[in-house]
Amino acid sequence: MLGAGFGGLELSTNLARALGDQLDLVLIDQNEGFIFGFSKLDVMFGRTPAPAVFHPYKDIDKPGVRFVQAGIRSIDPTAKRVVTDAGVYEADILVVALGADLDPSATPGLVEAGHEFYTVPGAFGLREVLSNFTGGEVIVGVTSTPFKCPPAPSETALLMHDYLTERGLRDASTISLVMPLGIPIPPSPAASEALLVAFAERDIRWHPESLVTGLDPERKVAIIGNGTEMSYDLFLGVPHHRAPAVVEESGLAVDGWIPVDPLTLETSFPDVYAVGDVTSVGTPKAGVFAEGQATAVAEQILSRIRSGPTPASYDGRGTCYLEFGQDQVARVSVTFLSGQAPAGELEGPSQEMAQDKQAFGTTRIQRWFDRS
Ligand SMILES: Cc1cc2nc3c(=O)[nH]c(=O)nc-3n(C[C@H](O)[C@H](O)[C@H](O)COP(=O)(O)OP(=O)(O)OC[C@H]3O[C@@H](n4cnc5c(N)ncnc54)[C@H](O)[C@@H]3O)c2cc1C
Repeated sequence: MLGAGFGGLELSTNLARALGDQLDLVLIDQNEGFIFGFSKLDVMFGRTPAPAVFHPYKDIDKPGVRFVQAGIRSIDPTAKRVVTDAGVYEADILVVALGADLDPSATPGLVEAGHEFYTVPGAFGLREVLSNFTGGEVIVGVTSTPFKCPPAPSETALLMHDYLTERGLRDASTISLVMPLGIPIPPSPAASEALLVAFAERDIRWHPESLVTGLDPERKVAIIGNGTEMSYDLFLGVPHHRAPAVVEESGLAVDGWIPVDPLTLETSFPDVYAVGDVTSVGTPKAGVFAEGQATAVAEQILSRIRSGPTPASYDGRGTCYLEFGQDQVARVSVTFLSGQAPAGELEGPSQEMAQDKQAFGTTRIQRWFDRS
């Protein structure tokens, strides 16, 4: 199992529960522990201390699962052979869940004259940057597509409004949100409408169908794809995404990401599956979809081992939480089925949904990290 993010943790958990000691699964990740994507916003806005959101992999205690902390150097999908910093591994079944790498340097000026809030160092470092900010023009901007968690820039703009309000800086500031999408969450018109209302109520300036192609450090302006410029004092960007280099070099990727059968998550290589952000399966790049895909792959592996009936195919379902600020959270349930327009429903925003989101995180940590 390559990668111990949403996909890798869910797959390992499901297989360990079903197979116990019969399982022989090596879970490989370069990191020491897991951090939820949404925890990055919590740390950045000072809502949670950084150590509280870190979940060390050494806590994993599952029958048949061995965690190896190592960088993956090469993947041979034909031989199902993986070379890592900690040795060579050969598998009967290989599952790739290596996520999307982030490349802030791909946007001219971003590293020198802006900030990004998608990497752990970027988001955690922003905590201090924000506490030193004394007000001015703030831009939250997306620099390329596809990007993880499409609601995250909208959430960041809303949380920024709260943050500046609490610090008495909102009147001295503007907040602009620059996104490549026509509406904030295209699969859910209801959620998009609720967000657009929230932006209008808070005077958050919404710039749809626009990408930030670069920053000019001298003039402190963001260059927008359509040729316009926007001045800023604080730029918070969503950086370029790409498949990890080891995936690009493996021959698994086509046009940047790993193509899979949308019903089975099989790649074009026998006994090699891929789930989550590293694929081009057609769902958004979000943890809940990686998790659902991992569940579907676990079912298939179990059915093969037990020579059981063909399991149900991947259903494309996911439930995302949306921070509206002011302790209000909404829940969006979306289904992406191949060949059909995605359908999304909205519940909230409300304080009850904020508790629901909390429970979502707690239950994952309990089952992935074997905590009671
Ligand atoms: C600010 C922000 C907020 C978000 N909020 C949400 C949310 O509310 N809900 C939601 O569902 N999603 C959210 N996401 C998206 C979510 O974090 C990702 O979509 C999800 O983690 C993808 O899961 P994955 O298993 O595909 O990959 P990941 O969870 O990214 O895991 C990939 C793993 O592979 C490892 N890896 C990569 N390359 C190598 C290598 N060469 N060697 C060894 N290990 C390697 C990485 O270390 C990583 O642990 C958010 C993301 C961000 C940035």
